[in-house]
Amino acid sequence: MEPNQNNWLRTNWVEKGDAQRIFVELKFTLRDCNSLPGVVGTCKETFNLYYQETDSEVGRNLRENQYVKIDTIAADESFTQGDLGERKMKLNTEVRIIGPLSRRGFYLAFQDVGACIALVSVKVYYKKCWSIIENLATFPDTVTGSEFSSLVEVQGMCVSDAEEEADNSPKMHCSAEGEWLVPIGKCICKAGFHQKGDACEPCGRGFYKSSSQDLQCSRCPVHSFNDREGSWRCDCEDGYYRALSDPPSVACTRPPSAPQNLVYNINQTTVSLEWSPPADTGGRNDVSYRVICRRCSWEPEECVPCGQNVGYSPAQSGLVDTYVSIMDLLAHANYTFEVEAVNGVSDLSRTQRLFAAVSIATGQAAPSQVSEVIKEKVQQRSIQLSWQEPQQPNGVITEYEIKYYEKDQKDKIYSTVRSKSTSATVNNLKPSTAYVFQIRAFTQAGYGTFGPRLEITTKEEATAAIVSSEQNPVIIIAVVAVAGTIILVFMVFGFIIGRRHCGYSKADQEGDEELYFQFKFPGTKTYIDPETYEDPSRAVHQFAKELDASCIKIERVIGAGEFGEVCSGRLKLPGKRDMSVAIKTLKVGYTEKQRREFLCEASIMGQFDHPNVVHLEGVVTRGKPVMIVIEYMENGSLDAFLRKHDGQFTVIQLVGMLRGIAAGMRYLADMGYVHRDLAARNVLVNSNLVCKVSDFGLSRVIDDDPEAVYTTSGGKIPVRWTAPEAIQYRKFTSASDVWSYGIVMWEVMSYGERPYWDMSNQDVIKAIEEGYRLPAPMDCPAGLHQLMLDCWQKDRAERPKFDQIVGILDKMIRNPNTLKTPVGTCTRPISPLLDQSTPDFTAFRSVGEWLEAIKMERYRDNFTAAGYSSLESVARMSIEDVMSLGITLVGHQKKIMSSIQTMRAQMLHLHGTGVQV
Ligand code: AMP
Repeated sequence: MEPNQNNWLRTNWVEKGDAQRIFVELKFTLRDCNSLPGVVGTCKETFNLYYQETDSEVGRNLRENQYVKIDTIAADESFTQGDLGERKMKLNTEVRIIGPLSRRGFYLAFQDVGACIALVSVKVYYKKCWSIIENLATFPDTVTGSEFSSLVEVQGMCVSDAEEEADNSPKMHCSAEGEWLVPIGKCICKAGFHQKGDACEPCGRGFYKSSSQDLQCSRCPVHSFNDREGSWRCDCEDGYYRALSDPPSVACTRPPSAPQNLVYNINQTTVSLEWSPPADTGGRNDVSYRVICRRCSWEPEECVPCGQNVGYSPAQSGLVDTYVSIMDLLAHANYTFEVEAVNGVSDLSRTQRLFAAVSIATGQAAPSQVSEVIKEKVQQRSIQLSWQEPQQPNGVITEYEIKYYEKDQKDKIYSTVRSKSTSATVNNLKPSTAYVFQIRAFTQAGYGTFGPRLEITTKEEATAAIVSSEQNPVIIIAVVAVAGTIILVFMVFGFIIGRRHCGYSKADQEGDEELYFQFKFPGTKTYIDPETYEDPSRAVHQFAKELDASCIKIERVIGAGEFGEVCSGRLKLPGKRDMSVAIKTLKVGYTEKQRREFLCEASIMGQFDHPNVVHLEGVVTRGKPVMIVIEYMENGSLDAFLRKHDGQFTVIQLVGMLRGIAAGMRYLADMGYVHRDLAARNVLVNSNLVCKVSDFGLSRVIDDDPEAVYTTSGGKIPVRWTAPEAIQYRKFTSASDVWSYGIVMWEVMSYGERPYWDMSNQDVIKAIEEGYRLPAPMDCPAGLHQLMLDCWQKDRAERPKFDQIVGILDKMIRNPNTLKTPVGTCTRPISPLLDQSTPDFTAFRSVGEWLEAIKMERYRDNFTAAGYSSLESVARMSIEDVMSLGITLVGHQKKIMSSIQTMRAQMLHLHGTGVQV
């Protein structure tokens, strides 16, 4: 009721803490002035709210001017006396905000200037955003900003085992209202951990997570493991590796196994190798191959790397295809080639290298070109030349040939001069005439190619007298000189062979075997029948090395031989590498005859030394059991091997095998050894697919062959493999071996099919006698079948020699295109020996009719004049015969020759007529 009221109420000091913006909520009631009588002018319906900021309590004295007014607070609702009576007091709630605050604390003060007011409660508070985990980041409790509009940016902390995503660190914003707004960025679980709810948990055992980017843990890839939790990758099992470039998600891999079926071909000083991919690529698809070439000395065997001078096509390493040619090797040298399959983990592996290897002796090669020629002296009628030995002589150069002709002469008739040294004088030239010279070298391997042309003009003549010389005495002298040399060589050879022969007889008569070796001459060794020895144990010791049984370790039984078990095992000779061997044993309780026969095979085998003939390592005769130790042929006998791999080889590989067998047989034939039982079952195959002729012995070998049957001529004979003359009157020769070789060809090309299928032996003999021959096996190139037919000529003199067979096969291997035309798909026909697909060529009754048919009748007279009156005689013609008829056009020669060849093949098929060019 009194005017000018000024009543203050102050709070305690409130420490502000983190708060910057304070909320003050007031609850109060207020009397309506109108409802109070007698207070007009003094009664107020508002009060004032103040605050003061201080850093500490300031005591009880209160100075108004230190307070800052926040607001005048009015009531929304006031009440009257009546309300009071009815207990209807209306509570007002007002909120005011102060800030930003800058001191440690503050006081609030309420000024009443005459209102009738009841302050019921004062709530002072501030707002914050509560700690939260969002996107794997923890955001701490955050007090809101000082301004109403401010957002407080808060950096999140990744939860344990999580990391910030690159360039995207987690942030959130705390709004003035205490709400989290606008999340940005995130955390992700580290490698080895995965997210579960708001946390990162380690990957379990056997699982991994290689990167924080991956969402899930994955199971360890193949051939890897881990036995810890929280792994970012798995460890490889023993023997397995991960290449540097391999991501942790790929399986662990290992180096590939060795390439398989390594075969080779030698063409003079070039060796081509071909192989099949390894059985095990180690689980990778980056297999490539590399070749290691080493040149080896013969005795003792020491090998050195081939060096830079050897060429590799397409390359020495990084080969993706399964072949390579190695060029520019030395002639007549021994080489070892290792072909290794490598993949991305080969270099990491410390295990032994796996490779396929072959040892090869290069053939002879003609010398390279004579290219550096110098004109030493040029005269009117003579020119003196000198030159350098070719870069690759490939042997001992015995002679040079100088070819020259007058440059301007129309038909370029040339003369030659020979010289044993690297210089020569060419005489009897015309003065002032330009001559062209070319030189080539000669070795045992033949002539090299001529070097580049060198043009030299003789000097002008001083006098007018020109002597024409048609003949060139130099040539005559040279020819006489060469003839003389040849005679001399023959004399020396004759002497040696003669002496050697004496050596044999001496050896035979007096047992002085040493002589044989004294006169041993490369390439002319002859097989000695061990039966000619009275004491067969001497024969065996002459040809076979006696081994100490302690050097041999028998490992397992691999077959049954006629005299006992055949085992595989290892042979370790002092100072040599331990090697795999096959060991043939003589069963206990043998008779003397059996022992003799058993060792006979060693006596024969011991005489041979050829890469395509199984090699005898030695014998054990002084201990028990008696043993024959032979090089180990991993793939066993050829027939079973082919049946097991039916259809799995390329034609080149098959021809490579045949080439090997033919080379082995050529060697045996050259030594004068007749095998008598050549068949695929008696050829052994090693791990490189090299075929070697085996099963040596005398007649007893055939006796023990299950294929051999008794024939009317007496004796047991493997009929299907044997030439007719050998069946009929036991005429066994290298030519009958050639027949058997033809059958082996058929067996190889048909992957071990039985020759003549289930025909009886009697039927086979009869069919052969009637001229029938085996048809081409399925997919067999025509050229190969033709070669078989040639081997099966009735007249043994007409059959090719093994040397020719090797030559033909080499040619096919060099020109694989010739192997591309199979004869047709001639599977087993109903009437197997009749080749019904061939048209009847004998429809032509005369040579004239035939010529007409091939549109070559213009040569009818040429044929008649030369005496070719029957088609049979025509069928025997060679290309030289055709040319000698005076048919000069090459196209016509070819046409006639190809028709003759068809005719020949047909006659062989239909009539078995032996025709040999
Ligand atoms: P053989 O008495 O020579 O016919 O040998 C009997 C069997 O032993 C043959 O069929 C082959 O399977 C096996 N055999 C013989 N010699 C060897 C060898 N050098 N390497 C591997 N296996 C062989």
